[in-house]
Amino acid sequence: MSFFDEKVQDLYDEVVARNPGEVEFHQAVREVFDSLGAVLVKHPHYADAGIIERLCEPERQIIFRVPWVDDTGAVRINRGFRVEFNSALGPYKGGLRFHPSVYLGVIKFLGFEQIFKNALTGLPIGGGKGGSDFDPKGRSDGEIMRFCQSFMTELYRHIGEHTDVPAGDIGVGGREIGYLFGQYKRITNRYESGVLTGKGLSWGGSQVRTEATGYGVVFFVREMLNARGQDLDGKRVVVSGSGNVALYAIEKVHQLGGRVVACSDSGGYVVDDDDGINLELLKEIKGVHRGRVSDYAEKRGAPAYFVSSGSIWDVPTDIAIPCATQNELDSDDAASLIANGCTIVAEGANMPSTPEAIKALSSSGVLFAPGKAANAGGVATSALEMQQNASRDSWSFEHTELRLAQIMRGIHENCLSTADEYGAPGDYVLGANIAGFTHVADAMLALGV
Ligand code: GLU
Repeated sequence: MSFFDEKVQDLYDEVVARNPGEVEFHQAVREVFDSLGAVLVKHPHYADAGIIERLCEPERQIIFRVPWVDDTGAVRINRGFRVEFNSALGPYKGGLRFHPSVYLGVIKFLGFEQIFKNALTGLPIGGGKGGSDFDPKGRSDGEIMRFCQSFMTELYRHIGEHTDVPAGDIGVGGREIGYLFGQYKRITNRYESGVLTGKGLSWGGSQVRTEATGYGVVFFVREMLNARGQDLDGKRVVVSGSGNVALYAIEKVHQLGGRVVACSDSGGYVVDDDDGINLELLKEIKGVHRGRVSDYAEKRGAPAYFVSSGSIWDVPTDIAIPCATQNELDSDDAASLIANGCTIVAEGANMPSTPEAIKALSSSGVLFAPGKAANAGGVATSALEMQQNASRDSWSFEHTELRLAQIMRGIHENCLSTADEYGAPGDYVLGANIAGFTHVADAMLALGV
């Protein structure tokens, strides 16, 4: 271990000691730290200025009670979070996640990743994240509305167009953003479009925001292929998940000539290897009826089939795009993908691959794109929504999609050129971590302690 690697190890041990039990946060920090030894050799002034310690401590952490009344009249209590992690590059920016697995460690891992992801977009946005341990599954529309209103009744005092701009994440889509915005407007008596992104198209939202994360990850895959003289035409693709990110990743793969043969939800996965996943049917089942992928298999009939146990990563594929949730792809899954000849893994979700899986994939020569680079299209388009709100403008679908494609190309180039500069050609993890880190670190240096 070099002096700098030892320094990074000491810093990591300190993060673990200061944030006990927050295993997802530790994992996200470790992944970035593993790339930093080389940066500190080149730029020791970052360490001297305490940049790494400052980056690992959120600027502000807000934890609050969210009381609401369910349909039976019973009072329920959930816990709300907003972690305002880093504002060196712009207002805190990042989604809200409503899921029973949410606790401070999950929000901090997401917020920490968001700092570097947002920096990679090249747009003026800092990093933050929030959410609640509220489980929206099975809740009526009225319950969702009352929960969102109660959540915003506390959150409104902490956010603002120039302060902190939340958006969606797992469990928070257009409907929830509508209820949240409505409550913000009601309390403040101000129509501040720029306070939230992911809004509806008729009231301040941006074209392509709904599609952006899914489209963006496929644009990134296209760049990875193009850099090697290939394209998506005729490629088999497996996309895990069937939420917003997965649906639009599937759509863009099909538009670019690839074929998605499997997708999943928490109940299992469906394989449809004939013409590939029928997106219209999937959108109807998941989007309109909030149903399950097992319903898809039933409706579609043979040769489509549903598997309730096992792993979607056992399905042979050229390209894998994990779009479900953190740590969904482990070392056994990586081994299956490698054995079946997969050549690219690009993360649509945040941290869906375990560290062991990433190691196995990379050492077998599988190209691996980390989420902070590959799924940055969502937040990048949120920043485009903020631009449109600030100028009271509204761009066309074509223009916005073109901007998204350019941003994804820029991130891809930045990752590759940074990896080259640090003597690790083709290492997207190293490239993304170092490019994101140096961008934020330079701003933090400029702004003083
Ligand atoms: N939740 C998304 C992400 O993980 C988008 C955040 C946003 O648009 O602010 O990047």
